[in-house]
Amino acid sequence: MKFNPKDFWGIKKEQRDFFHQKTCDRCGKTLNGRTTSWFTEETICLGCSRKEDILKRNMKKAGINPDEWEGIGYIPSFKVYCANCGENVEPDEMGNCPNCGRYVVGRGD
Ligand SMILES: [Zn+2]
Ligand SMILES: [Zn+2]
Repeated sequence: MKFNPKDFWGIKKEQRDFFHQKTCDRCGKTLNGRTTSWFTEETICLGCSRKEDILKRNMKKAGINPDEWEGIGYIPSFKVYCANCGENVEPDEMGNCPNCGRYVVGRGD
């Protein structure tokens, strides 16, 4: 499709910002892909988006429906128990414990 600057400037400012934004609102990294946060208005990178996906999965496991949390304006803190360190931790974007690197999401309930 041929790019038409008129069309571009005709779109809403928020959309322009979305496509022109260079860094992630959350972690500040350069955006290599982008999406809007499930919980906030932020434009976030794919790494942060993966963390949100894990968070949503954990919420479901805890019997909370993440759909009801869409656009609440903040990121809910959601910790899971790591049997390796014996602590409740917030898993990283791969679902691993930030302390010991052990995979903590998806373990038996
Ligand atoms: Zn990010
Ligand atoms: Zn751990």
